[in-house]
Amino acid sequence: MQTKTGVPASPGIAIAPAIILDSEEYPIPERHIDRALVPTEIDRINRAFDSAIGELTELEAQQHDLGQIGIRDLFAVHRHFLQDKSLRTKIINLVNAEAMTAECAIDRAFGDVHQQFAKANDRYVRERAADIADVKKRLLKYAIGIKESSLDTLGQEVIIVAKDLRPTQAALLDPRFVKGIACDAGGKTSHTSIVARALGIPTVVALGDLTGSVARGTQLIVDGNTGIVIIDPTSDTLAEFRAAAESIATLQQDLQIIRHEPAVTRDQMPVTLLANIEFPEEIEHVLQVGAEGVGLFRTEFLYLQAGVEPSEEVHYTTYARVIQAMQGRPVTIRTMDLGADKFTQSHRFTPEANPFLGLRSIRFSLKHRDMFVAQLRAILRASALGPVKIMFPMITTPKELTLAHEVLAYAQSDLRAGGIPFAPDVPVGIMIETPAAALMSHRLARCAAFFSIGSNDLTQYTLAVDRGNPQVADLFSAAEPAVLELIKTTVDGAKTAGIEVSLCGEMAAEPKYTMLLLGLGLRTLSLIPQMIPEIKKIIRSVTVAECERVADAALAADSAEQVLESLVMRTRPLLPQFFK
Ligand code: PEP
Ligand code: MG
Repeated sequence: MQTKTGVPASPGIAIAPAIILDSEEYPIPERHIDRALVPTEIDRINRAFDSAIGELTELEAQQHDLGQIGIRDLFAVHRHFLQDKSLRTKIINLVNAEAMTAECAIDRAFGDVHQQFAKANDRYVRERAADIADVKKRLLKYAIGIKESSLDTLGQEVIIVAKDLRPTQAALLDPRFVKGIACDAGGKTSHTSIVARALGIPTVVALGDLTGSVARGTQLIVDGNTGIVIIDPTSDTLAEFRAAAESIATLQQDLQIIRHEPAVTRDQMPVTLLANIEFPEEIEHVLQVGAEGVGLFRTEFLYLQAGVEPSEEVHYTTYARVIQAMQGRPVTIRTMDLGADKFTQSHRFTPEANPFLGLRSIRFSLKHRDMFVAQLRAILRASALGPVKIMFPMITTPKELTLAHEVLAYAQSDLRAGGIPFAPDVPVGIMIETPAAALMSHRLARCAAFFSIGSNDLTQYTLAVDRGNPQVADLFSAAEPAVLELIKTTVDGAKTAGIEVSLCGEMAAEPKYTMLLLGLGLRTLSLIPQMIPEIKKIIRSVTVAECERVADAALAADSAEQVLESLVMRTRPLLPQFFK
């Protein structure tokens, strides 16, 4: 028996024999051709493009029939990429200029794009490199005339082990037979992982060299909750994981039953559960789990995916898509939270010594007014299509909020002057992410329609612990009493002023914090859609009075450890499958 640890990418436990998927790299030798053959090669390129686009269109249509909207979008994204004329032109130009083979030119052109993505500082952009490799492979398949091994005729339960499963390969897996996925490479937000979650296949990625350690038929356990893969488990371990898998299945059934029930406490206090999203593709899942709206739409992906500033039109179509898909439920769009580790350090903007304390978030927006106005105009225009709220990130002082409001007022008057419609009464709120904002929340509330507590950054700035630095990860805890005091101050500040307050940091998605947050007075939580059913189950199992007692005890504690111990003790009986 051997245990490997990777990154959990799709929850659940799978136990089945492995099937190894070849990485199917097509080695492309650098080969030049006789000039007379250039037109033939160009013809091959055009035919490969047309066939690949045709195949993607067909796959897209099939997914539509099956009702898999999110997966259909993935094929559409790949098709759009191939339909972009500049890519085809670049490949044809290479053949013309250097008299190289079609496959050589495809390999070279895609190689450049792939490198740009793979080297990006930002995780989201890096993880899009897998899509580039996927599209390239499809094109090469047609250029060279290779037959791909098919996975759609498995006929028995397996766990797929691969170096890196391509997103469109994952999209075509049949969850009746593919019980789990384990990959050497990959990331949590790659399209492969998103697809695995959509299909409900337990998945662990970034396992390093799993493919080198597993043979076809080896029994595997994939634990998509903890990120562990066990090779050739002992009978005791197998029994332990079978029991865990069963109890998760029971929990899933319970959660399914309450899916359409309201999130109310036992004493009938309603709680609003909203979804945090990063990509429009997630909306299908948001609706499936019964979220009442989007409480946090992080818009950074628009800048990070393309690596360039998106146009107002790109912003608009993205927001329009989400708003329309949400069918009248409110969508809170957070304006660009760039800076720190996202976008600015790798662009033309000056590198900073302390980016997390530097020109990030709303500070960056206020300094790059044109970018900010473009986004605000797009959000306002989209507000004509359905209920929208605008949320400014990391507001630290009342002055910053005034300045942000001024830019918004400018965007509104500009649209008005152009006769472009938008909702006149879009609520404008702020994220409370710094101790300064929490302490001044009573004053900030005068100029904000709502607060959303960003507990990730609030923890980082309160404790002076970089949230992304593994060396101090043990010091990063939202359960520190200092953080809890600031959450309470913010909730009280909002309540006194009569404005809405929610919490949208990771703590909202962690069952152990649910009672505490309700006890601190929160009645709206925004979290990753995957966890909405579990959080709802806890809410439906408790009373407000119980939660208030939990919060009082936490506020009186001396340390995060003490707080966590009592939270786990209170929550374990409500969701035993979650706490081993
Ligand atoms: C937060 O800081 O808690 C938050 C929700 O924002 P982000 O994680 O995007 O910084
Ligand atoms: Mg934040």
